[in-house]
Amino acid sequence: MIKYQLKCKSCKNIFDSWFASSKEFEKLKKMKLINCSECNSINVDKSIMSPRVSSKLSLDKKKTFLKANKVKLKIKEFQNYVKKNFEYVGENFTYKARSIHYGDKKTKKGIFGKASQKEIKELNDEGIETAQIPWIDDKEN
Ligand SMILES: [Zn+2]
Repeated sequence: MIKYQLKCKSCKNIFDSWFASSKEFEKLKKMKLINCSECNSINVDKSIMSPRVSSKLSLDKKKTFLKANKVKLKIKEFQNYVKKNFEYVGENFTYKARSIHYGDKKTKKGIFGKASQKEIKELNDEGIETAQIPWIDDKEN
């Protein structure tokens, strides 16, 4: 069995109909046995969706997807760089940033971690530079 979406050229009615095969559809059409469900007109044909439009849409979607993936990859690369070269201090970021800034102890590694917008602002007011970086949680994948 095959389901076709049929379109009536007389009243623009669109309806679904089942056929044993595409051959049967052609046969019935030739014999003028396919009628519109609304106006009974035999001026009925398979409704053909515009493949041009649909393929353009999917291509755009594909492009967007690829673009998003590339950005994600870049962020991941950057993340790996940060993970290798910076010490993760998590929630202690504000505390650690202060102790590095005010302390004498020279740390080889930079730090990265979590801080609220308020904490970042406070750090900036104290002259401690921070940078916000885009971050993707590994759990997302
Ligand atoms: Zn009709």
